[in-house]
Amino acid sequence: MAENWYPIIDYSKCKGCLSCVEFCPNNVFKVENGKPIVANPANCVEFCRGCQKAACQYNAITYYQDHKNRRC
Ligand code: SF4
Ligand code: SF4
Repeated sequence: MAENWYPIIDYSKCKGCLSCVEFCPNNVFKVENGKPIVANPANCVEFCRGCQKAACQYNAITYYQDHKNRRC
């Protein structure tokens, strides 16, 4: 369980391959209109980057903390 760690999908890059949905064992994603949505962010495991590194070939996945730590 992670309050401040969950994936954010960049839909301008997402191709809808659904590898991330198949990869994640924690039911974080659901599919809506052929694209993944982050339906259960609390299920994501803190500092896991599995779906980003192992599943998504399109650089479409970042994480909440990646954005929070940016200054602007
Ligand atoms: S980071 Fe890990 S736990 Fe979180 S959605 Fe991706 S594969 Fe699932
Ligand atoms: S793996 Fe990447 S491109 Fe494929 S559905 Fe997930 S976010 Fe989109």
